[in-house]
Amino acid sequence: MPQTQNRTDALFDTDGGKNPLAVLKRVYGYPAFRGKQAAVVDRIVSGGDAVVLLPTGAGKSLCFQIPALCREGVGIVVSPLIALMRDQVEALKQLGVRAAALNSSLTREEFLDVRRAIAGGELDLLYVTPERIVTPAFKDVIGNAKIALFAIDEAHCVSQWGHDFRPEYRELGHLAENYPGVPRIALTATADPHTREDIIDRLGLRSAEVFTTSFDRPNIAYEIVERDQPRQQLLRFLSRHKGSSGIVYCLSRAKVEDTAKWLNGQGIRALAYHAGMDRSVRDANQDAFLKEEDLCLVATVAFGMGIDKPNVRYIAHLDLPGSVEAYYQETGRAGRDGLPSDAWMAYGMADVIQRGRMIDQGASGEDVKRVERAKLNALLGICETPGCRRQAILAHFGEAHSGQCGNCDTCLKPVETWDGTDAAIKALAAIYRTGERFGTGHLIDVLLGTENDKTTRFGHVDMPVFGAGKDIPSKTWQSVYRQLLAGGLVSVDHDAFGALKLEPGARAVFKHEREVRFRKDRPTTGKASRSGISNGSGPRSSLEGSDAVLFEALRVARLAIAKELSVPPYVVFPDTTLVAFATDRPASREALLGISGVGQSKLERYGEAFLQVIRAHDQ
Ligand code: ADP
Ligand code: ZN
Repeated sequence: MPQTQNRTDALFDTDGGKNPLAVLKRVYGYPAFRGKQAAVVDRIVSGGDAVVLLPTGAGKSLCFQIPALCREGVGIVVSPLIALMRDQVEALKQLGVRAAALNSSLTREEFLDVRRAIAGGELDLLYVTPERIVTPAFKDVIGNAKIALFAIDEAHCVSQWGHDFRPEYRELGHLAENYPGVPRIALTATADPHTREDIIDRLGLRSAEVFTTSFDRPNIAYEIVERDQPRQQLLRFLSRHKGSSGIVYCLSRAKVEDTAKWLNGQGIRALAYHAGMDRSVRDANQDAFLKEEDLCLVATVAFGMGIDKPNVRYIAHLDLPGSVEAYYQETGRAGRDGLPSDAWMAYGMADVIQRGRMIDQGASGEDVKRVERAKLNALLGICETPGCRRQAILAHFGEAHSGQCGNCDTCLKPVETWDGTDAAIKALAAIYRTGERFGTGHLIDVLLGTENDKTTRFGHVDMPVFGAGKDIPSKTWQSVYRQLLAGGLVSVDHDAFGALKLEPGARAVFKHEREVRFRKDRPTTGKASRSGISNGSGPRSSLEGSDAVLFEALRVARLAIAKELSVPPYVVFPDTTLVAFATDRPASREALLGISGVGQSKLERYGEAFLQVIRAHDQ
C-alpha cells in the first residue's frame, strides 16, 4: 500500500490558498459548509480546542479534515478501529489528500514509508490507534515534524458510561502536556449527557468550545412492532428494502448465525458478524458489507461503531437494545447520507425479562444496575408510547420536539387508546392474589380462567380473579402487562424467574384514584400490519422513469470502478451525487464540477467515465 503521493496542486494553488471554504469546494466538491461545520473549522484553524457533539451524518469528519489541510503540519486522528482505517485513508486518497495510517497491521517497509513521509512534511492526515499514540515510540516517529492538530474520533470511548469503553482512551488526556500548543478536537455522536461530561473531563477539554445541535435524525423513520412471528415480520420488512444494504441486530451470537442462515435460505443475501467469529471471517464480512450494495449484515452490537457507509438504508432490531442510548446509536447508523432510511424493531415481553436478567446477573455494582434498569425502562416507555416516537427519543436526551413528526409509525398511523382502568385492576389483582410469585404466562392463564396443571396445583382456580379477564384476548393481556411495566406500576423480579411484583403506584389504581389508558395493539400479521411507512427508502424512491434507469446505470459504472480500486462504491461517489447526476445530467467537465460531491481529484479520476454513461443515456 503506497502511503504517500504527491500533493495535488488543485489543493493549494493560487486563489484558493488555504481558505477553508475553498478547500471544501476544491477537494470535496461541496458548495457550502453545513450546520456547525464552519464554526468548528474556524475554531481549530485558529488554534483553539473543540468538543464536537453532533449526530451521525452531520459531517464530523470534515470538522477535522479541513483544518488539517489548512494548518501547517500533519493532522493526527485517533481512531479506535484498525479495520476501518484503511478505508478512511483510501477515501482521502481518492480526494487527493495525502493520508496514511499507523497501526499494527503495517509491514516494516510501510511503517518506514510513513515515518519518512512525516519527517518530510509530506502528509496531511495520519490515522493512529489510541494505544500507539501514547507510546514514546510515537514521539520518535513524529520527531520534529509539525503537528496541525489532534482529532479524537469516537471520543465517547473514553467514558465508562458509554457502551464502547476503551481504557486506552483515558491516556489521551496527556496529549495536551506532551504536545503543548497543538489544537485538539474531540468528536462523538453520543447524546448522553453523562458521557459528554466524561469526555470533557477525561480528555482535559474544560476550556474547549463545545459545539452541538439537535440530535434529531429526520430522515430516519422509526417503527416498533409487537413481536408475533419475528421471522415473517422481518421478511416483510426486508421486502421493502430489496437492493439496498442494512443491518439486522440480534442479542446473541447464536441468533445472529441462525438468522443469517435462514435469510440466505429465503433468498436474501446475508452475512453474520459477532465477536465470537474468527477475526479473518469477521473482517471479510465487514468488508463485504462496506463494498456490496445489497447485503444484509446480521450482527450483534459488536458491529457498527465507526462504520461510515453512508447508504445503510435500514436497521432492524430483532431484540430490544439495553437502553435508549444504544437504540439511538444503533438505529443512527442508517441514513448518514441524509436519504430516507428505516429503523424497525420487533419486541416483546420476553425481551424485557431477558434484558432485566442480564442486568441483574451482570458484574456491575448495585448503583450501576439501578441506572441500567432505569435505562431499560426508558426504552420500554418509548416502545409502548402512544405518542410520537421521535419526540419520546429526543425527550430522553433532554431535547424538546413538538411531536407529530410524520415519520414514525405512531404519527403515520395514530395509535388508538382505550380506558384500561378495569383491565389494569384485574391484571394487578391477578399479581396480588397469586402472591407476586408468577410471570405473565401464568397470570394470563389465571385471568382467562385456563384450567391447567399449574393453576389447579396452586389453587388459583378457586380465586375470584380466576377467569375474570375472559372478555379480553391473551395478546391484549400481554400488552397490558407490558404497559403496566413501562408505566412503572409493576416490576419484574429476576431473582424469582421473572415474577411480576406490584410497585407503589399500583395502589392508586386499585383504589380507583387513577385512570389508566392503554394503547391498542395493532394487528401484526397480514396486510393490515403495514404501518403506513413508505414503501422502500433511499434514492430509488425519489427517482422516476429515465432518471431511475440512468441512476442504475451510474451505479453499475460506480461498482466497476470501485471493484477495480478495491474500495467501497461510496468512496468513488455517494448515492446523493449519483442522484444529482441522474436528475441534472451534467454534460461537461465544468457541469460535473458543479455537482455536490465532485472535487478536482475525483473529476480527474472518474469524471470522464461518468460523463460517458450520462451521454449514452441522453441520446
Ligand atoms: P459523521 O461523521 O458526522 O457521521 P460524516 O463525516 O461521515 O458524518 O458525513 C456524512 C456524509 O455527509 C458524508 O457522506 C459526507 O461526505 C457528507 N458531507 C459532510 N459535510 C458535507 C457538506 N458540507 N456538504 C455536503 N455533504 C457533506
Ligand atoms: Zn412521530
